Amino acid sequence: MKIAFIGLGNMGGPMAANLIKAGFEVQVFDLLSENVKRLTEQGATSAETAADAVENAQVVVSMLPAGRHVRSLYLDDESMQGALKPGTLVIDSSTIDAQTARVVAKELTARNIDFIDAPVSGGVAGAQAATLTFIVGGEATQFEKAQPVLSAMGKNIFHAGKHGAGQVAKICNNMLLAVLMAGTSEALRMGINNGLDAKVLSEIMQQSSGANWTLDKYNPCPGVMENVPSSKGYQGGFLVDLMKKDLGLALDTAIQSNSSTPMGSLAQSLYSLHSLKGHGSLDFSSIFTLFEHVEKD
Ligand code: NAD
Repeated sequence: MKIAFIGLGNMGGPMAANLIKAGFEVQVFDLLSENVKRLTEQGATSAETAADAVENAQVVVSMLPAGRHVRSLYLDDESMQGALKPGTLVIDSSTIDAQTARVVAKELTARNIDFIDAPVSGGVAGAQAATLTFIVGGEATQFEKAQPVLSAMGKNIFHAGKHGAGQVAKICNNMLLAVLMAGTSEALRMGINNGLDAKVLSEIMQQSSGANWTLDKYNPCPGVMENVPSSKGYQGGFLVDLMKKDLGLALDTAIQSNSSTPMGSLAQSLYSLHSLKGHGSLDFSSIFTLFEHVEKD
């Protein structure tokens, strides 16, 4: 099977590499030639344009920054109109607004092209290890059709519902994650400010009713856990600016669906402030430092 892969950044690069490892023939395109080169060195065929990449491909995977890039690729790029043939399956794994996913799905469906939104959870490490979680929106038949491709890049593959549902589920999860990370950070900081040891407090909360994923797997306080971003100067992991982007999508979704999300709104303000202070390129657990105790003279 021939697969076109468009968008070979931090996530798309290793995902495309895993498709090659799984034995698929992969044609790649990215606006940055160095990203294309990295993949051709691993066995991919390079294409001059996105339209060239999708020519004769049965499946197209895209991993782009935002909704406007996805819309422009599938709806505005005229050369793509002829290149994408009826019967092709398009898998968009970018994290974008659900409305754009629905619009692209509708337009492609009208041309007999299958589309699923399939955003991922698991970060760059998950992309490299082929252990991503895919959260799919689309028809059941399209979900089934995508299985062999998705399972070469990920471990858990969920069907969330119809088109756009993958994006909504992903954004619900990330909004909750942001709230949990900020809440865990302020609780840990209050304990430390009152003389508690962060490791001891973390163990107590982990075994008590405050237990959550951030305490279990991703403690934000430096030195409590090994091999997490907080113990490596908040390098690597999931960037503050990406969390900020996802929280923006969550707020848009809340407004469009008349949902009340006060905790999500507060988390969005906290992450925006943290980014404004120059920490956009740190891991999102660095929100812990926003609550730092400032010693008075
Ligand atoms: P990135 O910026 O590293 O990569 C995006 C790539 O898309 C770049 O190489 C860029 O050159 C390319 N690109 C942009 N417009 C293009 C176009 N028109 N044609 C071809 N290539 C184009 O971003 P990333 O970290 O790989 O994230 C990609 C998507 O995955 C985003 O939607 C992000 O929110 C989501 N995501 C990222 C993470 C993460 O930890 N990085 C985790 C989960 C989801």
